[in-house]
Amino acid sequence: MSQEDWTIQDADDLYRVSGWGSGYFHINDAGQLAVRVPQAEEVSVPLVDLIEGMEARGHMMPVLLRVQNLLENQIRLINETFAKAIEDSNYRGVYRGVFPIKVNQQAQVVEDIVRFGEPYQHGLEAGSKAELMIALSMLKTPGPLIVCNGYKDREFVELGLGMLKLGFKVIFVIETPSELPIIVESSKAMGIKPIIGVRTKLFSHVSGHWNDTSGDRSMFGLNASQLVGVIDGLKAAGMLDCLQFLHYHLGSQIPNIRDIRTGVREACRYYVELVEEGAPMCYLDLGGGLAVDYDGSRSSAIHSRNYGLEEYCVDVVETIQSVLDEQGIEHPTIVTESGRATVAYSSILLFNILDQTGFSDAQLPPKRDDEPNRMLRNLYYSYDTLSEKTVQECFNDAVYFRDEARDSFMRGLLDLRTRSEVEQIFMVIMAEVRKIAERNPDALSEPEVLKTMLADIYYGNFSVFQSLPDAWAIDQVFPVSPLHRLAERPTRTTIIADMTCDSDGKIDRFPEQGEMSRVLPLHALKSDEEYYLGAFLVGAYQETLGDLHNLLGDTHVVSVYIDEDGSYEFVNEVEGDSVADVLSYVEYHPQHLLKNFRKTAEKAVRDGTISAAERQRLVGAFEAGLRGYTYYEQ
Ligand SMILES: *Cc1c(COP(=O)(O)O)cnc(C)c1O
Repeated sequence: MSQEDWTIQDADDLYRVSGWGSGYFHINDAGQLAVRVPQAEEVSVPLVDLIEGMEARGHMMPVLLRVQNLLENQIRLINETFAKAIEDSNYRGVYRGVFPIKVNQQAQVVEDIVRFGEPYQHGLEAGSKAELMIALSMLKTPGPLIVCNGYKDREFVELGLGMLKLGFKVIFVIETPSELPIIVESSKAMGIKPIIGVRTKLFSHVSGHWNDTSGDRSMFGLNASQLVGVIDGLKAAGMLDCLQFLHYHLGSQIPNIRDIRTGVREACRYYVELVEEGAPMCYLDLGGGLAVDYDGSRSSAIHSRNYGLEEYCVDVVETIQSVLDEQGIEHPTIVTESGRATVAYSSILLFNILDQTGFSDAQLPPKRDDEPNRMLRNLYYSYDTLSEKTVQECFNDAVYFRDEARDSFMRGLLDLRTRSEVEQIFMVIMAEVRKIAERNPDALSEPEVLKTMLADIYYGNFSVFQSLPDAWAIDQVFPVSPLHRLAERPTRTTIIADMTCDSDGKIDRFPEQGEMSRVLPLHALKSDEEYYLGAFLVGAYQETLGDLHNLLGDTHVVSVYIDEDGSYEFVNEVEGDSVADVLSYVEYHPQHLLKNFRKTAEKAVRDGTISAAERQRLVGAFEAGLRGYTYYEQ
C-alpha cells in the first residue's frame, strides 16, 4: 500500500477516466487530467493549465468550462457515423440530425451547434414558442429541419406557418388530437401548406431512468385510435398530403440497445401503416435516447450504455431497411433528436476544495490517571485495548459511550469541556478503526457503513443545486476526479459537500466495481496548494435546471478552442452572477438595498456611533459585496 506501487493506471482504474472519457479525457504521465482533442491526436492539454490561464484572466473557481472541440466532434461523429452506416448498407435515404434545444438552451451552445452542424444540415428541435424563436433566429433559410414538438397554440402555429413561407423547414408534430383543428384552420386561413408530423405512443417499454416516457403510461403522443382520428381528420380536410413525418421518443438515456431496436421496429410498423393510408411519408424521427456512459461501465446499468455510436447507427439503419424492404416501401430520411450525447461531453464543472472536516486530524486529549468521568474512562479503555481482534467490540463501545455522553450533555449532566474530550477520543478511535478496516476489511461486520461514517468531508466551492441539479434531483451519476496529483496515491476517503450547507448539497454517488459507493478516495489537502476537481459530462440538462439555492448563482462560463498545435484560445468568457444579480432575480433592487444601507450608516454617523470615514468604508464594503461573485473568493 505504499506510494511506490501506485501508478497512473491505478488512478485511471479508480477514477475510471478511460471508461467515461470517450477518448476525450486521459491522465498524462505527470498525473494530470488532460483533454485530448480529436482534431489532433497527439495534442493533450492538462485541465490545470487551463485553470491557470483562466485565473490569470480573473476567472476564479468555480468555472464551467466548455471545450468547443468536443461539441464539434460529437456533431461530426453522429452525422458521419450515420452516413457511413447508410452507405455500408446501401440504405436509400439520408440522415438529418436535430438538436433538442431544451437539453442546453444557452445561446453560446446553440450557436456552436448550429455552426458546427452547418456542413451536415444539423437542425433544431423546439418544444415551445420560446425555443422556436431561438431556432428561427439561429438557422438560415433554406435550412435544416426545425422540428416542433410540444403543445402548439394558434400563435405558435401561425408563426410556424409564416416561417414556412419564408423558407424555413418547419415541421409541426401533432402530439395531441386537439392540435389538428388549429393547424388545419390556420393553414387554410393563411393559404400555406404545412408539413405535418405525428408523434406516436409506442407500446415498447424501455429500461432506464426515463422509462415513463415509453409504453402505455407515456404522457406524450397519440395512441392508435387517436392516430386514426388524426388521419381521418386530415383526409376530411383534404390535407393528408401534408402528413410526411413520423416521430416517437422513448425517453432519454436508454442504456440497452435491445430497447432501441424494439422501438425502431414498432415505429416502422406505424410508418408502413401511414404509407398504406396514403400519406406521402418521407421522414422517420426516432427522438432522443442515445445514452452517455457516465459510470464508464459500458453496461446496461442506468447511468451507462451497452452499445457504441456505431452500433446504434448500424442497428437503426438496418432495422428500418429490413422492415420497409419487406413491404417494398421507400426508405425515409432518418431523423434523430440526440441531445444528451451531443452536448454532455463538452462541459466540465471545475472547482477547488475550500476546507475539510474529518477524523484524520483528531488528537488525543491529555489523559488523567484519576479520570473522574466514567464515559471518558471507558473510551480510554477502548482506545488502549483496540486491536485487530477487538476492533468490532471497541467500535461498538465507542459509539455507545459517545452517544451516552451526548445524552448526558442534553440533560445537563456533562459540561462542554468534557463533551469535547469525549468527541476527540471518539474521533481518534474511529481513525484507528478505519486504519484497521483498511488493512483487514473482514475485521468488521459492516465495513461499507463504516467507510461512509468515517469519510472526511471535503467542501467544494460550488453548488450542487446550481451546477449539478440532476445529481440531487434524480441521483444522476457524474464522473468526478481530481485534476492533478494523480501520480500520487489518494490517502483520504471523502464525501464531497458543496457550499450550500444543505444536507442534500453533496456528491455521494460514485461508481465502484459495478456498485455505487458513497465515498470517493482523494488526496490529503496541502496548506500551500489548491486542490482542483472536475465534474465531467455535465453539458446536458444541467444548466437551465439549476436553481438559486442559498442564492449561489451561475458560475463563470469559459469556452476554449484547442488548436492542432496544442495552443488554445479562450473564445468566450461569460461572467457568472454577481450578488446583485441573484438578489434581483428574487425581486430585490440592489440600488434600494444600497440606499437603505446608506441611511442606516448615516444614522450611525449622526448618533456618533461611527465616524464619517468609517461610514465611507462600510458603504464601500457593501457596494463591493454586491459586485462580488456568489461563490467563495480567495
Ligand atoms: C428530451 C427530448 C429529446 C432529447 O433526448 P436525449 O436523450 O437527450 O437525446 C429528444 N426528443 C424529445 C421529444 C425530447 O423530449
